[in-house]
Amino acid sequence: MAKEFPVMLQDFTQGAFEDYLRQEPSPVAIVTVGSVEQHGPHLPLGMDMFAALEVAKEVAKRTGSVVVHPCWAGYSPHHMGFAGTISFQAETLKSILIDTVVSLATHGIKKILILNGHGGNAEIVSYAARLAKRETDAAILTSNAWSSGTTMAETIQYVDRHAGAKETALARALFDDLVQMERVEGFEPTASFPDAVEALRDPNADDLDLRTQLVMAYIRDTHTFTSSGVYSFAGATPNDADVEQAKEDFETSVARFVRLIGYWKAID
Ligand SMILES: [Zn+2]
Repeated sequence: MAKEFPVMLQDFTQGAFEDYLRQEPSPVAIVTVGSVEQHGPHLPLGMDMFAALEVAKEVAKRTGSVVVHPCWAGYSPHHMGFAGTISFQAETLKSILIDTVVSLATHGIKKILILNGHGGNAEIVSYAARLAKRETDAAILTSNAWSSGTTMAETIQYVDRHAGAKETALARALFDDLVQMERVEGFEPTASFPDAVEALRDPNADDLDLRTQLVMAYIRDTHTFTSSGVYSFAGATPNDADVEQAKEDFETSVARFVRLIGYWKAID
């Protein structure tokens, strides 16, 4: 469908939304969810939410879908040691997602893709989608908004999960005006693990899946193991960000969702 309607639901007039529903034979809504939480000294608090929105808006433009962003915050109790973090209770986030999906389905949108930009929301998003499926006749998909294609060996080596090279690169590729690199000039990694956890970080081990699970299970409250809020080790600090690679990763993610929606539209 040619781009003649807004992308974000709140930018439609009611009349235009009625027109959209009449003209689009198989409408898809992309519901985005992220977080408002510390992302190191240099990235915006809305990092995960902005990242999900950027992917969703680009996919929507190319597929004639509509983007619905029902809330800004997500489930972030592990970042509450840092000022600026807002954390919903799991129950709150679950209810917001179910109410959003049910509302969209009531108005005739039967294909709903929930794009999540924050790892801490993952299980709640899946659970909400599972429950919403029983409350509506909509088909509901859930996915991470963005994949950097990081291998398990890289994950264990760099633990680049939050505000390190990967997220900094994505932020600089998509919303550079919100990034303050001067705050991480000469940055030295602040993350540190006890020796027994540190010993698991061997990228050449043949049981990387087990090691990764144990390292991730060790991480409870961010401020207890990294004073800067950045989760990453040498080689993956904010200053190692590869912005060109992030642009490619973004395009790969967008193209994947465009293809997915293409297949989906053919299903009644
Ligand atoms: Zn993040």
